[in-house]
Amino acid sequence: MRSGAGEELSRGPAAAVETTGLTKRFGDLVAVDSLDLHVRSGEVYGFLGPNGAGKTTTLRMLLGLVRPSAGTIRILGTLSEGRGTTSLDRVGALIEGPAFYPFLTGRDNLRSLAARRRLPDGRVAEVLALVGLAERAEDRYGTYSLGMKQRLGLAAALLGRPELLILDEPTNGLDPSGMAEMRAVIRDLADSGCTVLLSSHLLGEVRQICDRVGVVSHGRLVSQQRIDELGGPGALRVRAAPLERARDRLARLVGTDVVTVAGDALEVAVPTDLAPTINRALVADGVAVHELRWHEPDLERVFLDLTKETHDVA
Ligand code: ATP
Repeated sequence: MRSGAGEELSRGPAAAVETTGLTKRFGDLVAVDSLDLHVRSGEVYGFLGPNGAGKTTTLRMLLGLVRPSAGTIRILGTLSEGRGTTSLDRVGALIEGPAFYPFLTGRDNLRSLAARRRLPDGRVAEVLALVGLAERAEDRYGTYSLGMKQRLGLAAALLGRPELLILDEPTNGLDPSGMAEMRAVIRDLADSGCTVLLSSHLLGEVRQICDRVGVVSHGRLVSQQRIDELGGPGALRVRAAPLERARDRLARLVGTDVVTVAGDALEVAVPTDLAPTINRALVADGVAVHELRWHEPDLERVFLDLTKETHDVA
C-alpha cells in the first residue's frame, strides 16, 4: 500500500463513513478486500477505480443492499447492521438507474415517491430547484435526456434532506455539458453542508469535484488522500545546455535525489519559488537556460501506476 492509504483514521472532523476490514466475497472472487474507508463529514470524497474494482459492491454494502462477508461499517457515527440501521434514514443514494414511470412528469414521479416515503409534498419543488429541473418538471420522464434523468434521480435522493449522499458514477454516460451540470449541482450540495461520496472510473471527473480520493483496485484501497496530494508535488522542468553541467550544478544546489533527467530536460522536484535561484545558479555556471517551467504531476500516470501495481500482485 502506498503512503497515504488509511491515513489519519481517527483525527480531523468526525467521519461520515468509516469502514474497517470491509470485505465481500462472491464464491472464490474477493470483490472487496479489507477496505478501510474514511469519509470525513462535509467533504466530497471520490471513490476512484477502474471497471470491476469493487466500487459498486462497496457502495451497496454501505447502503445495506449487500451483506458484507467481513468487516464493520459506521455510517454517520452509527455502527451499521444492514437495512434496518437508523442512520441510513439520513443517507440519500443514487446507485443504479433510478426507476421512474416514463409516462409521469418529473414532478409527479417525485410526488409519488414523497408520498410513499411520507415526506412533505412541498419538498418536491425544493429538490427540483436544487437540481435545476424546475422548468422541465411538467414534462414526462420518458422525454428527458440522460442528464435530466440523472438529475431527477439525484432529486429523488435529496427528498429526505440527507446528510450524506452516496452516488455511484453520477456522471456516467453524460455528455460534457451534462457532466458539468451534474458536477455543479453536487458542488452546490457539498457547499450547503452535505457530505458526498461518489464513485467514478474517471480521474478527470474526480479531480474536478472532490476534496479527497480513495483509489481502489481489485477490491483493495491503494491510496486515500487529498486529491491535490495524489500526484505528489510537481517539479520544475529545466531545459538547458550543456545538460550534464546543468545537472551537476543543480545536484550540488538542491541534492542529487531531486534532480532527474527526463529526455532533453531535467526535472527538479523542488517548490516553484526556487525557480529564480536555480536560474541564477545555472547562468552563473555558464549554462544556457532555454526553458524553466513548472510541470504539474501527471495524475493519469499516477492513477495507472497505482492500479497497475495491485494488478501485478493480484
Ligand atoms: P464498474 O465500474 O464496472 O461498475 P465496480 O468497480 O463498481 O465496476 P463491482 O460492480 O463492485 O465493480 O464489481 C466488482 C467485482 O465483483 C467484479 O468482478 C464483478 O463481476 C463482481 N461481482 C459484483 N457483483 C457480483 C455478484 N452479485 N455476483 C458475483 N460477482 C459479482
